[in-house]
Amino acid sequence: MTDGPCPTKLSATSASRPAIRTTTEQKDLQKDPMTQAQQTPTRPEPTGFTPPALHAAPLAGRRMVLATDLDGTFLGGSDGDRRRLYDWIEANRQTVGLIFVTGRDPAFIRDLCGGGDVPWPDYVIGDVGTTIARITSEGEIEPIAVLEEEIALTWDSSAARVRAALDGRAGLRLQPTEFRYRLSYDLDPDDLDPTAKATVEAMGFDVLISDNRFFDVLPAGISKGPSLRRLIDHLGLVETRVLAAGDTLNDLSMLALGVPAVAVGGAEKRLLDEVGHLPHVHVAEGVGAAGIHEAIATFGLH
Ligand SMILES: [Mg+2]
Repeated sequence: MTDGPCPTKLSATSASRPAIRTTTEQKDLQKDPMTQAQQTPTRPEPTGFTPPALHAAPLAGRRMVLATDLDGTFLGGSDGDRRRLYDWIEANRQTVGLIFVTGRDPAFIRDLCGGGDVPWPDYVIGDVGTTIARITSEGEIEPIAVLEEEIALTWDSSAARVRAALDGRAGLRLQPTEFRYRLSYDLDPDDLDPTAKATVEAMGFDVLISDNRFFDVLPAGISKGPSLRRLIDHLGLVETRVLAAGDTLNDLSMLALGVPAVAVGGAEKRLLDEVGHLPHVHVAEGVGAAGIHEAIATFGLH
């Protein structure tokens, strides 16, 4: 995803990594050039964004906080739309907080922002809600133990049990990356074993099928929305000043939290079916980053 040079703030470990770790969405992008062309357009020229801790004020004191999905949302839209949003955020860091809420893992975010063409977030909710972390001034993604404690306890090293239960199930291909508190599969919806979801739910896990492409097994009760709730409470944010932004079903739990929210243009129809009628959700015409800008104006958040 990144094509720019590593900035000086990127850790040596991250900078020396030969390639971005394959993750849920990324694996799909790699195998499907058309999808890649649609979802990961060429980045604008790098401008050298720096980790936010260097100019940080507490998020609770900022005028608004954007809590946004990445693929199709913050990374969606035209080059010009993304450049306008990213430059606006960077010019207003003292009054705008930024939280990534994504299915991607920390390594992906480190490499994405380390390229210098996407603003660093202040906090990260990654791995479909199973990682809650802050960004250090060195560009490291540092899990917040007190917020992850319940996630770790609920997952309880369950990967081997879940893998065994789903081994050989039609329509599921285990992703090669190991995640800390979840298992993720690439999904072929036409071929999916109809008992697979019920099997892992009976074991006490949640299954999240998103964009008809991904089958995530998560600790019960853990997803983007509940983890964003934890972080909002932890940081003492004023809920009416938080904007949640997303485009597919794995964003449903955060768009339904009750904070101002936007389903950006191009959102998955099944997400719109769930949230389109909610008074606190703006259904944007603008695609990706343009939809975020549209919602900030619609809600008068800044
Ligand atoms: Mg998305």
